[in-house]
Amino acid sequence: MRAPTWDYIIVGGGSAGCVLANRLSVDPGIKVLLLEAGGADRHPLYHLPAGFAKMTKGIGSWGWSTVPQRQLNGRVLRFTQAKVIGGGSTINAQIYTRGAAADYDEWEGDCGAEGWSYRQVLPYFKRAENNQRYANAYHGYGGPLGVSNPISPLPICEAFFQAGQQLGIPFNPDFNGERQEGLGYYQLTQFDARRSSTSVAYLRPIRSRRNLEIHLHAQVLRIVMENGRATGVEVAAEGSGTPRMLRAEREVILTAGAIGSPKLLLQSGIGPAEHLRAVGVPVVHDLPGVGENLQDHLDLFAIAECTGDHTYDKYNRAHHAAWAGVQYLLFKRGPVASSLFETGGFWYADPSARSPDIQLHLGLGSGIEAGVAKMKNAGVTLNSAYLRPRSRGTVRLASADPRAAPLIDPNYWAEPRDRELAIGGLRMAREILRQPALQRFVLGERLPGAALRSDAELFDYACANAKTDHHPVGTCRIGPAHDPASVVTPDLGVIGLAGLRIADASVMPMVPSSNTNAPTIMVAEKAADHIVGKLG
Ligand SMILES: Cc1cc2nc3c(=O)[nH]c(=O)nc-3n(C[C@H](O)[C@H](O)[C@H](O)COP(=O)(O)OP(=O)(O)OC[C@H]3O[C@@H](n4cnc5c(N)ncnc54)[C@H](O)[C@@H]3O)c2cc1C
Repeated sequence: MRAPTWDYIIVGGGSAGCVLANRLSVDPGIKVLLLEAGGADRHPLYHLPAGFAKMTKGIGSWGWSTVPQRQLNGRVLRFTQAKVIGGGSTINAQIYTRGAAADYDEWEGDCGAEGWSYRQVLPYFKRAENNQRYANAYHGYGGPLGVSNPISPLPICEAFFQAGQQLGIPFNPDFNGERQEGLGYYQLTQFDARRSSTSVAYLRPIRSRRNLEIHLHAQVLRIVMENGRATGVEVAAEGSGTPRMLRAEREVILTAGAIGSPKLLLQSGIGPAEHLRAVGVPVVHDLPGVGENLQDHLDLFAIAECTGDHTYDKYNRAHHAAWAGVQYLLFKRGPVASSLFETGGFWYADPSARSPDIQLHLGLGSGIEAGVAKMKNAGVTLNSAYLRPRSRGTVRLASADPRAAPLIDPNYWAEPRDRELAIGGLRMAREILRQPALQRFVLGERLPGAALRSDAELFDYACANAKTDHHPVGTCRIGPAHDPASVVTPDLGVIGLAGLRIADASVMPMVPSSNTNAPTIMVAEKAADHIVGKLG
């Protein structure tokens, strides 16, 4: 019996996959199948902005961890990656940032990602956007993705901006506009006080399209290759049944994420031959760059105790939580409408850097994310991340079993410079919290704690507390076909194979100096134009 057939099969219904499902199925004559290993996004926590706090604690994720990190005293870090329709955009903190223009100019100039300069990617950022505040040279209005300003900011946010100004860091109303540096409110992927994931923004409005099928709980085990061409995929059956074979007439498109896409290539025999042989996967195509070049932002944080209930910590108590629920239901305001990380900004650890190299996220509470302790009294968190790490890690298979968790090695701080600048960022965060403007709100730093001052002490603190900022990229990087480090050419086709493309965070040759959801959506928007032939 012939396997069921579509024109395009998209593997992974995350930030990028949902965009492509929408853009490719706009032509009713084209049959598209979207396969997602996770389930539906029915749970209300996926849609309430504050639901993010629960997300890093397990809901809708694969439950992966890193391998022991050599430069972090061998620590194993939790490494949350989404497993639900909408992917990262369904569970993330909703911060909408794009990075610096120079990031994309470097993709093109230094990495050989021809056609991916800032000038060339800006139209795709704008095409995605339904910005609720801006309509100008940098922002679009009327696209699918809701982007808006925080609804109910707290007074401590304004004091944070003033503290920055006391240190010479200006206020910036738009990090995605003319300049990136400064402190201010983030714009968020929210619309009408609800999360705007790509599932909500790109899939919901097109539910009635008959040429688009979406299969949930459909984990792809292998890409099927015939004579150098991807012709379909094998999907896991429930229990130990035989996998189902599904065929693609035109292309298989991987959007399984920066960990999922290289993992799937490797388990299909596409990747570094030596590694494939070592784990017992038959080599189909030797492509050394697959799973290399892993980059991520490592987050360090300071937590201060507040002089009163100035953040959202008090909503852990039942009567406050009940009031927050009522406030949201009646007025669409209050803590439930907050992503808890709505303010922050960009500044310099290295004053000679070409654009800001530190990102700050002010967390309106303590213990917001998994693995970070909650304080007894109200607290405020200030995260700092060094944005342009030189360390490079890997994604590898632990075994030939496609259901096994991958070996994720971000190799944090393999380059000592990354550590120095990251610790510089942590010092900056502590300094901001000490400024006079924040004294009305901040009683004193509790973590790392005033006693820890030297680089060695802060290093030990960082080793025990650092966490991922959830921005892995680069494991199937764009580059010239002749460069052995490249996995896809600038049109996102897999080098040396036909009928196979990759269009997610894994293709970014360098991590943007920001959060990575908007850049991933941009990649998928542009990929759609490559696939339908509007771009070369
Ligand atoms: C907890 C968290 C917080 C974050 N906060 C922010 C933020 O505030 N702002 C921001 O800009 N970025 C944030 N990010 C990062 C951002 O969300 C990601 O960069 C982005 O979602 C990556 O999109 P993607 O399409 O590459 O992968 P994903 O969105 O991860 O999608 C991949 C999808 O593929 C599916 N999949 C994987 N393997 C298979 C398979 N074999 N078969 C079928 N399906 C498969 C997965 O289940 C997943 O749904 C955060 C990420 C996380 C995890």
